[in-house]
Amino acid sequence: MLNDPRIARLFELLIDKNIPGIEPVFAPRLDSWVSYPAIEAELGTDADHAALLLEDLSRLGYLSRQFHDKVLFCPACNSQDLKLNTVCPKCRSANLARQRVLEHKNCGYIGTESEFTKSGGRACPKCRVELVLVGSDYVSRGLRHRCLACDAVIESPEENWTCRSCHRVFRKDEVREVVMYSYLLDQAQISKLRVERIPKARVREFLTREGYEIQESIQTTGRSGAEHRIDLLATKRSGPLEHRIVVGFSSAETVVDSEEVIKLYAKAYDVSAQDIIMVASPKLSDDGRQFASHYHIRVYSAEDLDRLYIKLPA
Ligand SMILES: [Zn+2]
Ligand SMILES: [Zn+2]
Ligand SMILES: [Zn+2]
Repeated sequence: MLNDPRIARLFELLIDKNIPGIEPVFAPRLDSWVSYPAIEAELGTDADHAALLLEDLSRLGYLSRQFHDKVLFCPACNSQDLKLNTVCPKCRSANLARQRVLEHKNCGYIGTESEFTKSGGRACPKCRVELVLVGSDYVSRGLRHRCLACDAVIESPEENWTCRSCHRVFRKDEVREVVMYSYLLDQAQISKLRVERIPKARVREFLTREGYEIQESIQTTGRSGAEHRIDLLATKRSGPLEHRIVVGFSSAETVVDSEEVIKLYAKAYDVSAQDIIMVASPKLSDDGRQFASHYHIRVYSAEDLDRLYIKLPA
């Protein structure tokens, strides 16, 4: 998938601009609701394709998917401008008061706090005993709703949603809900991409544009009869002439050793390449650079591939 130059460019963009992740926006369409505008613009693709692509890339481990937000919206008009109402399940009035419910421990009577209130103090409305100590005289049984229209005490009121856009009313389970995810670049993948994938894609793109035919990761026999593995071989024919470029990609923890330069030169010479390019990540050692300049090998680090240029054969 990363051989797709558009995707390589996308990663490159995210890494270059130091964009930590790809953010979703709520954008209702025919049968989906989330889109990723930054990706769509960059890849010149539609919202559905972009979403699938991100899903694939996260499955492959290049991106990690994270919860971003949950959006509730109107099933009729997609508006997010919803208002929650709690109503009485018996008479459907919204005129509910939230009250603490108390229990008199001696007689077991349960009622709302207002029933127990009596001229500045508390008394049980059933047995009329005055109550003083919370915990021993009476206990709190939590909050309940009391319907001020039909006087019912309600444990859990019904939830209704009103859409402020189309003014329709929906039950709780009728309101639509979509979970939106953002996609973050995985740090380990970033380093890996910096080292191999992105430079390779860029070199390939550049040489293809210059009219070269590209072969990647090939096994070939040189003039000496030795077998060589070549990262990228670019060939361009004009009449009887053929111009061959061998591109080697080397990476190391800190600096790429000069030995890599010599090996690359030996391979390129054996397959009669006129030009040699080395992409060293993160960079080539100082003596490596000296060898490279001696052998006329052009050296780039993954970061300075912008300077990539090929002198065309005369
Ligand atoms: Zn009621
Ligand atoms: Zn009582
Ligand atoms: Zn609506």
